[in-house]
Amino acid sequence: MTAQVIDGKAFAAGLRSRVATEVTRLKAEHGITPGLAVVLVGEDPASQVYVRNKGEQTKAAGMNSFEFKLPADATEQELLERVAALNADPAVNGILVQLPLPKHMDAAKVIDLIDPAKDVDGFHVVNAGKLAVGAEGLVPCTPLGCLMLIKDRLGGNLAGLNAVVIGRSNIVGKPMAHLLLKESCTVTIAHSKTRDLPALARTADILVAAVGKPKFVTADMVKPGAVVIDVGINRLPDGKLCGDVDFAGCAEVAGQITPVPGGVGPMTITMLLANTIEAAERKAAAEAGAR
Ligand code: NAP
Repeated sequence: MTAQVIDGKAFAAGLRSRVATEVTRLKAEHGITPGLAVVLVGEDPASQVYVRNKGEQTKAAGMNSFEFKLPADATEQELLERVAALNADPAVNGILVQLPLPKHMDAAKVIDLIDPAKDVDGFHVVNAGKLAVGAEGLVPCTPLGCLMLIKDRLGGNLAGLNAVVIGRSNIVGKPMAHLLLKESCTVTIAHSKTRDLPALARTADILVAAVGKPKFVTADMVKPGAVVIDVGINRLPDGKLCGDVDFAGCAEVAGQITPVPGGVGPMTITMLLANTIEAAERKAAAEAGAR
């Protein structure tokens, strides 16, 4: 293997300790304890694990964690009322509605109701729009975590590098592309209709895979020395987790590469905590400005 492995788990742990220090400072200097509310609808086992992890890490960072569970047959109106109550609650700085929602609920409508200032997932159209125009807003956690790993590895300055993002979802691909563009990369977004993807991918100094297909990115798609970021989380028939990148093959060509698990995954919850602090700080600054 020629590539250096990017240890997202260790990086995220370091970041969480900085988050905890910031929480201590906010409490001591401003009397603020940031609060994150997570709403889970139904019994999806993977979602239950995510929500439990989020709650544990929120508390470990010294923040307030609020969990709300609604039954799978709750009405959309009940969920909307819960979100409205959290919007109005001054102890809550961040609101996350765990996706996917049951089929009888419209996720877009629910996200649309979240106060954009508390939208720590960064999925609200106001925050997506801010990212698109380069304004300050709350940025989706997974691409934000990817950017931190990339900048850490490339010394912070990404200007002029070619970046190819495979995948154009609103939660990963598009925000990832906007973040890289903001760093002055030359960005191409690839998707299922892209022609000759291997040739395009080989132009990338930074290659981000957010496809949802196990081992989709193979060694022939990687430019020698490139930074390869694997966002994918796929469950194989044997129960093991696997990314969108063929790790063993691509590690022979890439300069740096994230593993799955232990790469991008641990960054996502950590960025959620960081976004909650940012939301709390912006609220405090706005209130101080209004006085
Ligand atoms: P998604 O909404 O399903 O989007 C997948 C994207 O891949 C689409 O834009 C699709 O193109 C593209 N695609 C599919 N087949 C392709 C092909 N043959 N060639 C090129 N592009 C192709 O998925 P997502 O929500 O972005 O998630 C992507 C992966 O990341 C999943 O494995 C998910 O589990 C994982 N994920 C991980 C984290 C984390 O914390 N690590 C967070 C979120 C997601 P079209 O638009 O043309 O259909």
